Amino acid sequence: MVKRKRSNIKLHSDTLSVHAGVKPDIETGAVMTPIYATSTYAHKSPGEHSGFEYSRTQNPTREVLENSLAQMENGKKAFAFSSGVAAQSAILEILKPGDHIIAFDDLYGGTFRLFNEIKAKSSGIQVTYMDLNKNINKEIKKNTKMIWIETPTNPLLKITDLKRIARIAKKNKLVTVCDNTFATPINQNPLNLGIDIVNHSLTKYINGHSDVIGGCLVIGQNKILEKKFALIQNSIGSVPSPFDCFLVLRGIKTLGLRMKKHNENGLKIARFLKQHKKVGKITYPGLPNHPQKEIARKQMSGFGGMITFLFDGNLNQIKTFMKKLKLFTIAESLGGVESLIESPALMTHAYLDSSDENKSIPKNLIRISVGIEDADDLINDLKQALK
Ligand code: PLP
Repeated sequence: MVKRKRSNIKLHSDTLSVHAGVKPDIETGAVMTPIYATSTYAHKSPGEHSGFEYSRTQNPTREVLENSLAQMENGKKAFAFSSGVAAQSAILEILKPGDHIIAFDDLYGGTFRLFNEIKAKSSGIQVTYMDLNKNINKEIKKNTKMIWIETPTNPLLKITDLKRIARIAKKNKLVTVCDNTFATPINQNPLNLGIDIVNHSLTKYINGHSDVIGGCLVIGQNKILEKKFALIQNSIGSVPSPFDCFLVLRGIKTLGLRMKKHNENGLKIARFLKQHKKVGKITYPGLPNHPQKEIARKQMSGFGGMITFLFDGNLNQIKTFMKKLKLFTIAESLGGVESLIESPALMTHAYLDSSDENKSIPKNLIRISVGIEDADDLINDLKQALK
């Protein structure tokens, strides 16, 4: 359970989910944050305004969401974006042309695409993909500026030691970035472990209801980064709408509660799959066979609802199995209240088809996002489809 200070009181993450960053509206006393659907704000006289000028720059609903996200991650400041990759793209804007990144060799497919297809071409960003559990020092070059981490990774659920990487980065004056989408601030707080920038796809667990695309980045006390990101957010303009901010704020209220159920269901279903004869290698950070289980235990307080496994069968059999499921929907995305199932090679990571990174994603790999339904119902559904 993550305890954190809010004012001078230590609060548990369940309490933070409900209260972080949110106060009754000053004007009306409304308990729920109003949707300030306005593009612009009246000035009392030219240049004299309430602190809000134009909704790309600041918006009261977005500001409450950003305060909430900053507190949830035990950070100082958060910036919200219109998608998870928009937040990642904004982070990469702090680099200069020709700068080099060391990145985990397993990442969300769209992050690879952003690095390889967009930033490498528009800004000459160079990326070395490696297993971050190996010797990072060997890959640091003169132009290396950033280490990009995802833990657990999508889709292979690799885990890496955030404290260790933060230490190496500090020694070499590198900025560390951690995509904390799979873990959420309930299960893992990278800023507490020395990481500089945390990013999330809000689309996933944080909103949790599969009805918003959103993203954010969170930083600790760092005036230089804060100034840079305020400029980048306003200049690039990929900001979320006030309505989406409201929906995410509503989602956060139950984040603590939902994650408890995702953690519980994830473990139960991973254990069920592990003993099933049609299931090959199964990966879940909470199982004793996970290669980095010790690191997971050290830096996470729960292991979430993401599970991957190798299906013992050909592509047609995989498709038949997935189509036979009644409670799991075949869909991309993850982290919603409903259970989803997908084939990374055919769906979320299909982009990697022609690139080297795809070598590490087997065609018979299946990824499931366990929802908050009753675990026994989900297990029975898997049983009948595996038959
Ligand atoms: N990071 C991770 C780990 C993801 O899984 C995703 C999307 O699946 C993203 C980032 C991108 O987020 P979005 O789809 O909100 O742009």
